[in-house]
Amino acid sequence: MRANVSLRYSLVLPIYNEEQVLPRLIERIRLLIHQLDGETEAIFVDDGSSDGSVTYLRRVVAAEPRFRLIELSRNFGHQIAITAGMDAAQGDAVIVMDADLQDPPEVVLDLVAKWKEGFEIVYARRVKREGESWFKRFTASLFYRLLERMTTVDIPRDVGDFRLVGPKALRTFRQMPEHDRFVRGMFGWMGFKQASVPFER
Ligand code: UDP
Ligand code: MG
Repeated sequence: MRANVSLRYSLVLPIYNEEQVLPRLIERIRLLIHQLDGETEAIFVDDGSSDGSVTYLRRVVAAEPRFRLIELSRNFGHQIAITAGMDAAQGDAVIVMDADLQDPPEVVLDLVAKWKEGFEIVYARRVKREGESWFKRFTASLFYRLLERMTTVDIPRDVGDFRLVGPKALRTFRQMPEHDRFVRGMFGWMGFKQASVPFER
């Protein structure tokens, strides 16, 4: 399939006031990069944080060439932060993940394995929502039921924005001019061979 030498991954992490978790996050990302089988960059997208996130990230990024920082001018919301990161990404495959460590970074290894089986888009699917309130689970489920009624596009359940996107889907995504973005729905709409891997939150 793909020769390992040409593999390159971009991790895209939207950041909004994550000062508390950043030191641990950076550590986990370093470990992950070490385990990945190709050259990897990590792109942190600061979405107008008002805490110490940017100051911290500037320092980290300055010392580590594999890390990049995009600073948005204000808070745009995480769909736009994700888009900015994916636009800037230089890897063959881009992996979008939350920064708050609710989703374990090691799952990226499973996403990559599935990608190598030939799936262009690979979702990380939550199998349990431990620690999330009844209310959050209820509203999330309601949201998806409503969404399914409103659209004919297949939007996978129990997946967030934690996913791997291969080069073909990336090319398409970058050409989509949608202003009001629901990134998850856009990937469903595109087609391509998709799969998901389960993980515990
Ligand atoms: N985030 C962002 N901009 C925002 C809100 C959140 O970039 O306006 C980031 C946040 O730092 C995290 C990810 O998007 O990395 C998901 O946010 P959050 O954890 O609040 O979402 P949830 O877990 O509730 O889906
Ligand atoms: Mg979260």
